[in-house]
Amino acid sequence: MQNITVLSGGMGGARFLQGLLHGIASGALPGVSPDARVSVVANTADDIWVHGLKVCPDLDTVMYTLGDGIDLDRGWGRREETWSVKTELAEYGVEPTWFGLGDRDVATHLVRTQMLEAGYPLSQVTEALCRRWQPGVRLLPMTDDRVETHVAIPDPDSPSGRRVVHFQEYWVRLRASVPAETVLFVGLEDSTPGPGVVEAIAGADMVVLPPSNPVVSVGTILGVPGIREAVAATSAPVVGLSPIVGASHVRGMAEQMLTSIGVEVSAAAVGLHYGARSAGGVLDGWLVDERDADQLDRLHEAGLAAAAVPLMMTDHDATAAMAAAAVELVRR
Ligand code: GDP
Ligand code: CA
Repeated sequence: MQNITVLSGGMGGARFLQGLLHGIASGALPGVSPDARVSVVANTADDIWVHGLKVCPDLDTVMYTLGDGIDLDRGWGRREETWSVKTELAEYGVEPTWFGLGDRDVATHLVRTQMLEAGYPLSQVTEALCRRWQPGVRLLPMTDDRVETHVAIPDPDSPSGRRVVHFQEYWVRLRASVPAETVLFVGLEDSTPGPGVVEAIAGADMVVLPPSNPVVSVGTILGVPGIREAVAATSAPVVGLSPIVGASHVRGMAEQMLTSIGVEVSAAAVGLHYGARSAGGVLDGWLVDERDADQLDRLHEAGLAAAAVPLMMTDHDATAAMAAAAVELVRR
């Protein structure tokens, strides 16, 4: 295999990509060439305008993680970050005060915003930013169009009994602590795949759905008209890894999002939600954690190749082993 395409969110996707690149470089992936190229189709529906700046959390998490600039403890933003800009803005009483806008990070958002305002599409801006970070993958925004995930939450003070907030506000300010009644994908239906996205899926030797959030990361990528169709039609095998381990999301908020779309919080249910390509879905194979091995029958019955292996991304070797198991599952 020479070309691997991964549909990625932020933290879960980025960690998986680190392990995948480690596995490729060390020759640990069966049948994958050590100089195989990885293309990443990244979610951009978390993007938000803050204080006049365009922020792309998932693109930046992938770029900083693979470019070794990420804060490892937080899992997002820049290492050795300082917060003077955020503090100064708060002194002016300017909202939002809850968004994590670090000083080093601001430079990225300034460059991005300036380039967007000069007329460059997000895909070209991302390419320019990656020239500094050298992430070792081709990083492709799922779309150049503006798409935003919003969440309807209960609000007793509103006449309708609910209020709609940006996904970032739900996640960062509210810590996903209130139920998400509905998840809305503003602009998604009218968006088109970014340059190179459909080609990266059609021309891949393998397509991977990493353990990213199935609703607000992979779900939005597949929701761009044309992308789900490209995944369904590619001649490459499509394999996914469960973000749910033992009925929990490990870290993140997949539980809240799955509940809001009425999908059971289990490894098998997420696999069945994506569905087998043989039955109109997007997957050929689905990996669950070894502690969810009792769910394999349900997956096999649905026409999926499935196996149970350790799925905790504790270090690069453990994650590379997950990538190797994914390759093994769908290798012809
Ligand atoms: P986000 O955009 O930063 O939320 O990141 P992603 O959407 O790419 O991934 C978030 C998801 O990764 C979480 O909801 C978890 O379900 C999943 N996740 C995080 N760490 C692990 C891990 O070690 N193993 C597995 N299987 N899933 C994980
Ligand atoms: Ca995200």
